[in-house]
Amino acid sequence: MSKILVINSGSSSLKYQLIDMKDESVLAKGICERIGIANSNFVYKAHGQTIEQLVDMPNHNVAVKLVLDKLTDAEVGVIASMEEIDGVGHRVVASGEAFKVPTLVTPEAMVLMEEIKDLAPLHNPAAIVGVNACLAQMPNTPMVLVFDTGFHFTMPDYAYMYAVDYAHYEKYKIRRYGAHGTSHKFVAQEAAKYLGKDIADLKIITCHLGNGSSISAVEGGKCIDTSMGFTPLAGVAMGTRSGDIDYAAAEYIGRKEGMDISQTLTYLNKKCGMLGLSGVSSDFRDLAKAADEGNYRANLALDVFAYGTKKYIGAYSAALNGVDVIVFTAGVGENDADVRRRTLKNLDYLGVKLDLEKNANCPRGTIAEIQADDSRVKILVIPTNEEVVIARETMAVAKLS
Ligand code: ADP
Repeated sequence: MSKILVINSGSSSLKYQLIDMKDESVLAKGICERIGIANSNFVYKAHGQTIEQLVDMPNHNVAVKLVLDKLTDAEVGVIASMEEIDGVGHRVVASGEAFKVPTLVTPEAMVLMEEIKDLAPLHNPAAIVGVNACLAQMPNTPMVLVFDTGFHFTMPDYAYMYAVDYAHYEKYKIRRYGAHGTSHKFVAQEAAKYLGKDIADLKIITCHLGNGSSISAVEGGKCIDTSMGFTPLAGVAMGTRSGDIDYAAAEYIGRKEGMDISQTLTYLNKKCGMLGLSGVSSDFRDLAKAADEGNYRANLALDVFAYGTKKYIGAYSAALNGVDVIVFTAGVGENDADVRRRTLKNLDYLGVKLDLEKNANCPRGTIAEIQADDSRVKILVIPTNEEVVIARETMAVAKLS
């Protein structure tokens, strides 16, 4: 059975996981941080131990070499040689319409990747660098590009189109793409498996709530709508992102504060959301603490977040013509009982009733069912695993077994 290396490459970081597909267990994982910056840091976790080293990593090639050296190290390694890695899955943030399915890395695919760099100017160039760094070390190992947007290509045209001049869709492919696709796909499949149901028969709303948050409507295992848009700026308010906003309001702030469009976008992505509203933090743990201590703005931020999420649940139950399962996942969705409580308050008209006790005592790191006995809709908390989806897609596309 294959072993798949999953790579998530950022502009100055590289996260990795080696997964044994026999049982989808993680053999080793870690992160290379501050690549190309002073004091680069290398973290390697395997055999229940964590190794952290300050190592000079001037570029991604050196980082990948370091990862491979550790994985094959006689003492702390988990494989005897690089040949044991059967495939490499690369996470890519944006696909545009250039890639609608996970795709094998070929020279032609990499030409297309260059063409869509602009769609995610921070993330996509980093993915290209990551792929090239891996190719330099493992030229004969099949590699697959797995896109965050991939799961959302089943959306109907009326869900992904923006009401702009149609020519701009044709010319620039301006439309909703969504994000967190691997996570939405994973938890939807896990929900069906857990409930012992065929996913084809289920209407599921998946809430990926983390630092970035998105909500998806999944019908019969296929995404029919999602809250993020052309970029991850859209949808609910997030850690530092505004989420949906009237563009005239954004332009007005920019004009008054002397920011050009690019600066205004940076402001909307980095200075707004929970951070901007609360003035405390983008971290939900800090918000909870401040709200408990009576901080009005921290409490307001949590209410705005939960209310926004609730509205998507309402909208998507309309889009799905009903809902059987609501899933919470990611950092906030899995851990923040108070956010789940605020979100699902007064949804009994929809057949959604939370068991407050089960919600508050929800175990971590495992699937939990937290609806009341008389709730028509199942409410599940499911730990996400984006890497495993990337590894599964890599197996399928590279035809490994
Ligand atoms: P991302 O992958 O988008 O960076 P994560 O899914 O890791 O985000 O989620 C990070 C968020 O999860 C942080 O904002 C943090 O506030 C929140 N979080 C993590 N643990 C807890 C917890 N125990 N209670 C509340 N929030 C938590």
